[in-house]
Amino acid sequence: MGTVEHTAGGAILMDGKMVRDELIAQLAVTVESEGSPEITLATVLVGDDKPSKVYVGSKRKKAVEAGLQSRHVELGADATQAEVEGAVAELVNDPAIHGILVQLPLPDGLDAEAVLNLIPPEKDVDGLTERSMGRLVRGKAGHVPCTPLGVMRLLERYEIPTSGAKAVVIGRSTLVGLPQVLLLGRKGCDATVTLAHSRTADLVSVCRDADIIVAAAGMARLVTAEHVKPGAAVLDVGISRTEAGIVGDVDFDSVQEVAGAITPMPGGTGPMTIACLMQNTYAAYHMLKA
Ligand code: NAD
Repeated sequence: MGTVEHTAGGAILMDGKMVRDELIAQLAVTVESEGSPEITLATVLVGDDKPSKVYVGSKRKKAVEAGLQSRHVELGADATQAEVEGAVAELVNDPAIHGILVQLPLPDGLDAEAVLNLIPPEKDVDGLTERSMGRLVRGKAGHVPCTPLGVMRLLERYEIPTSGAKAVVIGRSTLVGLPQVLLLGRKGCDATVTLAHSRTADLVSVCRDADIIVAAAGMARLVTAEHVKPGAAVLDVGISRTEAGIVGDVDFDSVQEVAGAITPMPGGTGPMTIACLMQNTYAAYHMLKA
């Protein structure tokens, strides 16, 4: 399994930063072994949302570390729908671009779905377009959304058994929860998955039966020790900005006492999202070449 750290309570710490660095270093070696072809990830940022700027900045930096090229397109907060669509269409038509990432959310008034759906499945390295989602549902080759894919990579890296395991995914968005359910339940992973959401009655008893919990609700410290079966793996995707700083969906201090494995927040699923974006961009290059 390689290096494994434990929390004070004895749970395996699923260290997303470390695994991200491992995956990015592996990718850099692979790209070099193929003669360092120019594989380019284009990032599109619209407006001046501060967290979005930070996310895009780290994606560009990690692309370079992975041996990829980065191209960045930035538009002002007052950009029109036509301007944003025009910028994306240019990248779609540029054969030097292999992956396109439009940083969400777009400023109010812009139709993000219309923008995303311009991206063909091969270049859709975020896996968020209708066609990519359709491919995921139908089990066809395509890009899978990076955050739920990152969760899968952590489960693999820490050898958390999934076949026949009971998994609960909290949250049903197309960005995280829904694709997560599909990935955990699909052939090869073979978990039995329950989807919990804001209308789920008695979340505690739903979760208490689970071997794996993926929390993606965006509700600070929603999951506490009472939700967790002893020995379960708990992966925290949620990000809430509170006065006390960034807080996940999982109450780390209490849960690490009972869980068998847990992600830190920050430093868990977030870095994995970026690693998977780089892997998807590399895969995009080969899909486009084929
Ligand atoms: P979203 O708001 O679209 O969806 C939240 C989901 O949580 C909804 O389906 C809702 O039904 C469910 N929910 C809300 N309150 C609940 C409750 N009390 N009990 C059970 N379910 C509840 O959000 P999203 O885009 O799916 O993102 C979820 C969280 O993950 C956010 O905090 C977001 O910032 C974070 N996020 C993290 C990463 C990462 O890389 N770690 C990436 C994307 C999103």
